[in-house]
Amino acid sequence: MTVSQASFALPRLNIYATGGTIAGSSASATDTFQYETATLGIDKLIAAVPELKKIAEVKGEQIASVDSNDISVAILLQLAQKLHQDLAGDTAAAVITHGTDTLEETAFFLSLTTKTDKPIILVGAMRPATAISADGSMNLLQAASVAVHEDAAKRGVMMVMNDRIGSGFYITKTRANTPDAFKSVEAGYLGLMIGLEPHFYYLPQQPSNRPYFDVSGYKELPRVDIIYGYQSTDTALLDAAIENGAKAVVIDATGAGSLSTPLLERVKELTAQGFPIVRASRTVEGYISVPEDEGTGSGFLNAQKARIMLMLALAQQDDLATIRNYFK
Ligand code: GLU
Repeated sequence: MTVSQASFALPRLNIYATGGTIAGSSASATDTFQYETATLGIDKLIAAVPELKKIAEVKGEQIASVDSNDISVAILLQLAQKLHQDLAGDTAAAVITHGTDTLEETAFFLSLTTKTDKPIILVGAMRPATAISADGSMNLLQAASVAVHEDAAKRGVMMVMNDRIGSGFYITKTRANTPDAFKSVEAGYLGLMIGLEPHFYYLPQQPSNRPYFDVSGYKELPRVDIIYGYQSTDTALLDAAIENGAKAVVIDATGAGSLSTPLLERVKELTAQGFPIVRASRTVEGYISVPEDEGTGSGFLNAQKARIMLMLALAQQDDLATIRNYFK
């Protein structure tokens, strides 16, 4: 290729599709809540946004066609391994289309399991593709625009939705129904989209204390369950989780990780035996830290992210002291 040809070559962008509302459809254009998810394939998603071809040499790949509640550990591992392989080559960036309900879990997982300066962007939609004012097409085009933009390098995994750029490590779904479904609580957004132009608030940076887990060759991860904290919680569900094979448990506890008296006593016993129990907060915002004999505080992580962190830590057989450091 000559220099002049190279200067006109568009960057190679891979779009990996997994399903969700962005690929959802309904017989009615006004149906935004009873539609079917994951009905449209990647070719249809790309064909609906012809502008994509003006900004990148786009390649689509269907990884799964599921509601994001059915994203399995196997799919997560496949995505991380594929990104590692493809981004080591001449692919410039990756976009992943995903259901919004568990998008933050995949974004967080990939934040911990990929190591590249190239942008990896997750995107979803709150309205199915058939709806009036569907948000998926613009979200996808904006995600692709960020992915191929020179300012997007060295920022780790990101999410682009609703004209905003969020950190894949910090974003979380905070609204069930409306297009402004995500927030980066405490940390804030990374930037704003003005049309197709990303405006970043900061120079490239990574979340502090973000560990990297090499998952090449992995086929599964240890089981970690989440239980909920509420008034007078007893120990039945915690014990059932362990009997059922959980290798660690996250408690989505009240306030700053508080527990009922019986649950706290059981957590103390399990901690003394070296069994990892992480205490997160159902309040959504805050930093959770607890005494060392009473489990492990989840720090800034919510329960679903703490679960991902624990699965990865246990897979590489980290001890309790090492696990504690991941949540600081
Ligand atoms: N429950 C579906 C999912 O997460 C729909 C939510 C969405 O994509 O907005 O795939």
